[in-house]
Amino acid sequence: MASGDDRLSGWLADYDTSQVTIGVVASHSALQILHGARQEGFRTLGIAVGENRRKMYKAFPGAEPDDWLVLDDYHQMLDEAEWLRTRNTVIVPHGSLVEYLGAENYIDLEVPTFGNRRILKWEASREAQRKWLQMGGCNVPRVITDPHDIAGPVIVKYEGAKGGKGYFVARDYRDFRRNVDVEEEFTIQEYILGTRYYLQFFFDPIPDDGYQVDGIDSNRGKQLGRLELLTIDRRDEANVDEFYKLGSLRDLREMNIEPSFVVTGNVEVVLRESLLPEAFRLGEGAVASSFELEEGARGMIGPFCLECIVTDNLDFSVFEVSARIVAGSNVSVGGSPYMNLNEYDNSVGRRIARCIRKAIEKDQLHAVLS
Ligand code: ATP
Repeated sequence: MASGDDRLSGWLADYDTSQVTIGVVASHSALQILHGARQEGFRTLGIAVGENRRKMYKAFPGAEPDDWLVLDDYHQMLDEAEWLRTRNTVIVPHGSLVEYLGAENYIDLEVPTFGNRRILKWEASREAQRKWLQMGGCNVPRVITDPHDIAGPVIVKYEGAKGGKGYFVARDYRDFRRNVDVEEEFTIQEYILGTRYYLQFFFDPIPDDGYQVDGIDSNRGKQLGRLELLTIDRRDEANVDEFYKLGSLRDLREMNIEPSFVVTGNVEVVLRESLLPEAFRLGEGAVASSFELEEGARGMIGPFCLECIVTDNLDFSVFEVSARIVAGSNVSVGGSPYMNLNEYDNSVGRRIARCIRKAIEKDQLHAVLS
């Protein structure tokens, strides 16, 4: 079987790179991806199941795709790979694509995709993420393996839980036992009290200017590429964000109400400027260690997000990493206090398209696709 690199080279050998189409599943952050692709001069393709998405996209003419691929089921994308390649398509992935196709199918999808799809393997498991982040010098919340050892607030997370659904807080074993669903796999993490910041970075391996990431271990002494901070958001979560309005945790428990962490939206935030060097250190560490995850790893490429809590001692704890565009970036369509300082990008979607365009101009498309 051809290695990932051989497979990509084979596909790109047949591509007319002056006619690249940016393809995206019409969900999650697709509006900004399509809009950004158009701003950078690409043809665009929306992929959807059923017809009703098309109508919604008509409400946003700046992002409406030039063409549509309408399917009965997202898994049909796998069968349409050749059709997509004949249109010189580059797929830009997001959380919904990976969820609809499944991580394994996404890795097998026979169409060039933006970023390093193999890194998803590391993102998919909490344990692997932890190893990756710690290798990069990030503090991560302590994990409690035996529920009897719970002594102080912890958050219990289910495997594959989406957007915080079903998570709960426990102070001791009794709380844990009262709320846990033993049928599900779970992780118990120390609850970090502080302020949440979801740092959205972009790593571009091609430029040799700007904030350069220094390699570690096997890449010692090597500058790996440019790190940018594009935007920072925070999630709105029901009902934990508004919980305090009804009284203390004890009052709420008397009313049989437990805090929950279901994402309902996002808001844009900025960090104290004096915290930015530490934010960059974490971003740099996560990128540098992504090249050391396995033999010959291609590392992080493109947008990624470090979900952090900053405590009142101004320490960062990173509780999750996403190795792709996150939906929180939708708050920054039109720019952010960070992107605007760089003048040329007005969304993470456009930054992706620009990365692809520059790579085409430099004949280095293979460096940003997989
Ligand atoms: P997604 O995959 O959509 O990013 P998820 O379901 O994996 O989300 P997390 O992002 O890990 O969930 O956590 C959901 C929410 O729970 C966070 O946004 C945060 O509010 C809270 N949270 C998670 N871990 C911790 C922690 N260790 N301490 C305090 N709060 C936490």
